[in-house]
Parts: sequence; C-alpha cells; structure tokens
Amino acid sequence: QSGLLNMVGGCCGTTPAHIQTIAAAVAPFPPRIIPNIPPACRLSGLEAFTIDDNSLFVNVGERTNITGSKKFSRLILEGNYGEALEVARQQVEAGAQIIDINMDEGMLDSEFAMVKFLHLVMSEPDICRIPIMIDSSKWSVIEAGLKCVQGKCIVNSISLKEGEADFLYKAARCQSFGAAIVVMAFDEEGQADSLERKNQICQRAYTLLVQHGFPPQDIIFDPNIFAVATGIEAHNDYGVAFIEACRFIRKNLPYAKISGGVSNVSFSFRGNDVVREAIHAVFLFHAIRAGFTMGIVNAGQLGIYDEIPEPLKSCVEDVVLNRREDGTDRLLDVAEQFKHKHTQLAPETQAWRDLPVIKRLEHALVKGINQFIVEDTEAARLEVNRPIEVIEGPLMAGMNVVGDLFGAGKMFLPQVVKSARVMKQAVAHLIPYIEAEKALQGSQKAKGKILMATVKGDVHDIGKNIVGVVLQCNNYEVIDLGVMVPCEKILETALREKVDIIGLSGLITPSLDEMVHVAREMQRLNLTLPLMIGGATTSKAHTAVKIEPAYQNDLTVYVTDASRAVGVASQLLSDTLKPAFVAERREEYAVIRERNRNRKPKHDMLSYTDACANQYSFNWQDYDPPKPSFLGTRIFKNYPLTQLIDTIDWTPFFMTWELAGKFPRILDDEIVGSAAKQLYADAQQMLKQLVNEHWLTASAVIGFWPAARVDDDDIVLYTDDNRQQQLISLHHLRQQYKKPDEQPNFCLSDFIAHSSSGKADYLGGFAVTTGLNMEAKISEFESRHDDYNSILLKALADRLAESFAEHLHLQVRKNFWGYMPNESLGNEALIKEAYQGIRPAPGYPACPDHTEKTQLFKLLNAEADIGIQLTENFAMHPASSVSGWYFSHPEARYFGLGKIDKDQVRAYTQRKQQTLSITEKL
Ligand code: SAH
Repeated sequence: QSGLLNMVGGCCGTTPAHIQTIAAAVAPFPPRIIPNIPPACRLSGLEAFTIDDNSLFVNVGERTNITGSKKFSRLILEGNYGEALEVARQQVEAGAQIIDINMDEGMLDSEFAMVKFLHLVMSEPDICRIPIMIDSSKWSVIEAGLKCVQGKCIVNSISLKEGEADFLYKAARCQSFGAAIVVMAFDEEGQADSLERKNQICQRAYTLLVQHGFPPQDIIFDPNIFAVATGIEAHNDYGVAFIEACRFIRKNLPYAKISGGVSNVSFSFRGNDVVREAIHAVFLFHAIRAGFTMGIVNAGQLGIYDEIPEPLKSCVEDVVLNRREDGTDRLLDVAEQFKHKHTQLAPETQAWRDLPVIKRLEHALVKGINQFIVEDTEAARLEVNRPIEVIEGPLMAGMNVVGDLFGAGKMFLPQVVKSARVMKQAVAHLIPYIEAEKALQGSQKAKGKILMATVKGDVHDIGKNIVGVVLQCNNYEVIDLGVMVPCEKILETALREKVDIIGLSGLITPSLDEMVHVAREMQRLNLTLPLMIGGATTSKAHTAVKIEPAYQNDLTVYVTDASRAVGVASQLLSDTLKPAFVAERREEYAVIRERNRNRKPKHDMLSYTDACANQYSFNWQDYDPPKPSFLGTRIFKNYPLTQLIDTIDWTPFFMTWELAGKFPRILDDEIVGSAAKQLYADAQQMLKQLVNEHWLTASAVIGFWPAARVDDDDIVLYTDDNRQQQLISLHHLRQQYKKPDEQPNFCLSDFIAHSSSGKADYLGGFAVTTGLNMEAKISEFESRHDDYNSILLKALADRLAESFAEHLHLQVRKNFWGYMPNESLGNEALIKEAYQGIRPAPGYPACPDHTEKTQLFKLLNAEADIGIQLTENFAMHPASSVSGWYFSHPEARYFGLGKIDKDQVRAYTQRKQQTLSITEKL
C-alpha cells in the first residue's frame, strides 16, 4: 500500500487483469494502467514511499536550498550555476532520495534562478534520476519551476495561511502539473504548535483537498517540527506533539504522507554535535514508528538509536517524549560531558590501539592521527619481508579509504591534509630502510608525475600546496617548484623529469597572461603533455578563451578546486578514459569560445567624454575635508601580534580549506561543522603559540599627503600643505558603461576635492605585512613532512595581514586621520566595512591597474622601510601582505570599473605617458 504510487511490472505475467486485481485490493481509486512502461521511466526513489513498519525513511537533500547552504547561496548569487549543479550531484551521490531546491533570496530574481537551475538539473541524468522538491514561499517561483521538471515532483509548500480559496487554487494547479504537495500545518491564525491545532489543520486541509478531487496520496503534511529543551516550558511538548500528529495523520488521513525538517528539534543544543545526533536518532526512531515518512535530514550524520550510550539515551528520550519535568536539566548535565567531542556518537577511545598493526595504520591514516605513526610503522616493518610492502599494503589501503571518503564528500580538506601528514611521516620512516635495500627504484609505483608551480610574478601558494598534498595522497608523485617560477624553469624541469602533467597556479590577474605565455611556449617547444590550470583568478572561461587555443598538442584543462584535481589527473593519465575526457573538455571549451564570440556586451557603452560628464557630484562648498594628524609616512615595526587577534575575519580562513560557510555558524554546520571545529581548534592553538614564540613579524607603514583632483580622473599629491610642489601624479579609471537609473559613472578621484574647489583635501596609503621571518618555521614543518601545519601557518599569516589592515584602518579613522574619533564598531561591522572611508587596493575592481602599486610603494618607501617587495607582475612578497589607498570622504565607496572603451584607454595612455600596447596589456 504505497500512498503515492504503486507500480507493478515485470516480464513474467503482470497483465492488466492482474494489476486490476491488485489495485482493487489496495485502493478505492481506479488504477491507471500503462502497459509496457520502458524501464527507463521507472520513478526510482519513489519506491521508498511505501509506508509500513519496514518503511525506508525517505531523506530529502537540503544543500540546494539557498537559505540553508552558504555555499550554494554564494554560487547562485555569483551566477556560477555549473558549480551549483555539483552541489546537487553531491547530494544525490551522498544518498539523498529527493532534492529540495529553494531560491528564495532577496538579492536574486528567484524565478529566473529556479528556471535556469532546473533546466540544468533536468539535463543531468545523474541528478534528475531522483525527484525534485520545488521549494519557495513565492507561488510564482513554484509555478515557474513546475514548468521545467519532467516526471513527478513535489511542491514545498502550500497552506491555508491565505484562506481556503487560495489554497485550493494552488493545489489544483499543482495537480494539473501532476505534482505532489507539501501542506504546512499553517492556517489563517498562524502556524500550528499544539497537537490539537496540528491535527485540526491537517484534517481540515485533507478534507478540503479530497472533496475537491485532489489525490490523497499526493498530500504530504508538514506538521512543523519545533525545538525542544529550550528552557521554555511550553516547548517541552513539541516533540510529542509532532510524533502524535504523525500517528493521527497516519490513522485518520489515509495515503497522506508526513515530512519535516528534523534538525530543528535539537536547535537548542547547537554546538554539541553528539547530543544533537542523539536527539535526531531518538526523534526519528519514534516519529518513523508513528508514521513519519520523509524528512529533511543530514543522512551522513545520523546516529544509530541502538548505539546511543546510556545515560545519554534515556535522558534524550525523556526530553523528546517529555517524560519528566526535569528532563531538560538532566540532559543539559549529561550534555556537558559530550560538549567537546567532535566525533559522532561512538565515544572516542584509545581502543584502536589494541587492533593489529595493519588496522592501526589504517585507523591513523583515516583519522589523521600522527601520534603513534612512527612506532606503528616500525612495528609493521618488522612484520613484513620488505619495507616497501608497508607502503604498498596498509598505507596505500588506508589512503584509498581517505580518497574514497573525500570523493564522497564525507571527509574535508583539513582532514585529508592531516591524513597526508600521517602518510608522509610513515613513508619518511621507511625510506632509509628501502634505500638500504636499494629497492627504491622500480618498486615505487606512483600513478604519475605531476609538476606544479605558481607562475612568474606571483607568490601565492596555499591553494597549490593543498592540491599537491591531495594528489600525493592519491599516489601521484608531485614535483613542486614553488612560487615565482619562470616559464623556462617549468618547461626545462618538465622535460628533464619526464613529468606526465604540468599544473600552473596563480592568484593575481597578471598571472593569467603568464599562463598564456607558458602555454604558447609549450606549443613552440612542441611538448606533448596535459596542462592543468588553477588558482583564484583563473576560470573555465579564461582557460577556454585564452589559454587552450595557445596550446593544442594535448589537453589544457581548468581545475575548479583541490577536490577535483585527483579526478582530472586520473582521467588524463588513463589510456582508456583520456580520449573521452579530452574530447568532452575540448567540445565544452569550443562552446564557451563560441558563446564568448557571440556574446553581446552586457551594457551599452558611453563615450569617455560622456562618462566624465555623468560623474558623481557632490557639494564640496559645504564640506571641509578632514586634515590628518601628520603628513608623510609613519612606520610600525614589529607590531604586537596580540593586538591583531580581535579583528581577524575567520570566514575566508575556512574558504582556504574549501569549507563553505560563515563564521561562527560554520562551526555548527550540519555537514562541515565537525571538520571546521577541529580546524578552528588547531588554528587557535597555533595562533597562541605563534604569538608567544614570535614565529613571524608584523610591520606596516602608513602615510598621508595633501591631495587634489586634477582634470577629471587624476589625483596629484603635493610635497607639503603649501601645495606648490607636486610630489606625484596618480591615475584612475572611470566606469564607462551606461548606468541604469541615473546612477553616476564613478572614478575613485571623485572622492577627492578638485584643485579648483578651493578645498584642501588629503589622500592616505598603507602597506602591511605579517609574512616576515616566517621561513624558519615553515621549513621546520616541511622538514618534518608536516604540510598541515605549514599550510595552517600560511593561512593564519594571511588572516593576520588582513586583520592588521583592518586594525590600522581603525587607528587611522580614530587617531591618525582622526575623522571618526568616536567610532565604536564590533568586529562584524568592521568586516562589513560599515564605517566612513574606504581602502581600495590597486588590482581590485575600483582600481584594477596593478602598476599603480609601484607609485604607492614609492610614496611609502615600503620596500626599504618594511621589507615588502613587488614582483615583476606587482604581487607583494611576502604573500601575507596588504596595501591600498585611504579615502576619508563620507560617500567614498567601492565599485567595479567594468569594461572600458578605446577612447579612455588612449586618454589613460597619454596621462601615464606609456605606450598604447602596454596600457592594453595591463
Ligand atoms: N575581511 C576581509 C577583507 C579583505 S576584502 C579579509 O579578512 O580577508 C576587502 C578589501 O578588498 C577592501 O578593504 C579593499 O581593500 C579591497 N576591495 C574590495 N572591493 C574593492 C573594490 N571594488 N575596489 C578596490 N578595492 C576593493
């Protein structure tokens, strides 16, 4: 008796007559008989709807919900639908039986996004093999979505909130699309919280629907799961109310199903995963028995009811079933014991130390524990004939498990890098024995040799290092040439070492051009091996349009992030998989190039003269620019690191490790929460140590100069406040596309008083670094094969540099420039830059010309005074450095320059007194 759909089929005797008999036995509804359904039309996943005591509980994937997943939200807002699609695919691969898709976001044209995303989903066989739940609070979005989905889908949700007529209209529309509906227990009075209201609303909705011919098997009730144990007495019964509502629906509203968001129930135990998982397991255990059929859960994080340890289990049961008055207090006491456990329900023990050595090695690898690795490796070595067998046997087996878990989205980068550390330390212990046996050569069976390098002029390597580690974990040999690697060195090494793949990385925009150069050289020298492209400013589009056409001997391929590197490398190095992979990529890139060629400009352009005429206007006569407390520069050497801790912005730190989510919420994230927490704990510990033991030095220089805007877009600085002698001329660019709604065409110079205004204005500049004297510690980690700590330290140095910039900017506003003496903002507001004034960085969207950094550095004397060098492509070295201009103007804001036209390029060329070709390249 499956409520939603019964499909009976088979080749040995299921005849229409037979089906009639079955149908008559199970339902009052006339069966629809569709003969000869081809197997491909099977609505797989729907089988799981059967509600009986052996029912499979249907789990609904929630990560494609823009309101629930930061990562998905970011991808959609950026218009990166390709990657967003991967989120859906991961959900299916992780075992979701339905995916919930929600695009409700204020900044978005939700209808457009829903349609676009569903179109993409529908053409992915791996994803659209499971049903779609179209989720929106806007009816128009639901309707738009319904038009895109083939097969049966589910609408989430409609309710009696707006009255019966509206409810029935929407239900009928859904029915005409063949969709099932989630009906929220919500009526004109509001959301149902008590059992009585839940039952009453569900009953009313059911009767109305059925009376109007709506198939009851297409009704899914959501009787609202609310948090228990919140400390408010009225909430204690929420668990029971839901479970009993399930029982009521199951008994009285035939064929209807029941859904709900399970994690709500444990909301008050945020931050305590063990207890949350126990609550979920207990809640599900009882709710499913009462008829709960499908729910939004994190399948990967479900505990097993029978395995919940006592007394936790009975305390949770008391709370969920509201069995005693002091249930919440008792659970809170027990919860304390589990607070700092990051593990799942099984309490962490040292029991694994009693396992045989082979199992111990595997455990250490999977869990990333390096505490006993040398002693275990040694024990394993004594057990085998040849030391190499330890690598080829248990170590490789362990790493395969790690690779599989990572591939399945069940492990995350920080954990993988820790596993790699265990592997490397084990291998390091074995190498002398292997060499002594002279068995090294020939017995190492790496899957392939990959050369990695950050290109010339660029210094960023965290991402590249992570990719290297992930590849090594998967048994690729990696030759890492480091940063600022000239093309010649890359190609020469590739040939000498006979590598199988070259991987290029870069973070700043000029690196894109450098990559094109490397590709051209590979063509010219007739190399025949694949080229992988990755790094922050690289993209599939740039690779397709600029790099791939330059090198045609083998595949040039863009690799989105570290988690993809292994998949790409393995296909490139497989004789069987490579041809199809190459053909697909080539075709994909050709399509991108074609699209790019035919792309209409996003905006109409203005002439440069008209753009200048439409500049930002401000009443300078009523405004007196603030004067800084000093002119010229001030140097801060060896700045106290303790002062840089409070203003750290942690969210980008997690992004570095490919953990998506905003801090601090990410620590409680359903999926990455425990990985994030462990990483954060490691970071805090290292931070403490690096401050106490001075692992790095922070230095900075800031400066202020009398300034005036001249002509339209330049700013001159004067040697002193007499403003007689010019010190330097700075050049800016103006937005040139046609702006909507009478918005002005901005240029940063707009925020400085014009020389003809009669007002004395000022401009500031800064450069900070926290990357000095760090090499000692980095090489110490590297010599210990400890990539994890080496990457962690670099990532923390980056955080401290950004924090230093924020901290100094605050001092500038309050004291040094002093235009906001009484400002008092929390860190959250600082991260949002919710203050007056900006610090635009050359190379960023408002001032994308990196060469202006040369002027900034000259003014600040930053190279000599604090030791930050500029590379030939204007990257700052050390990498953990930040620089920019200070504008104090109350309306100063960041913007994106966008495209500019030839006329402005020519004018800029003249002002900068350089050749046209240089301007164009820049
Ligand atoms: N809290 C972040 C700060 C870095 S991003 C962190 O810790 O990583 C914000 C900085 O980028 C700004 O302060 C500014 O220096 C630069 N920036 C952002 N948008 C810009 C734009 N449109 N033009 C110029 N610079 C910009």
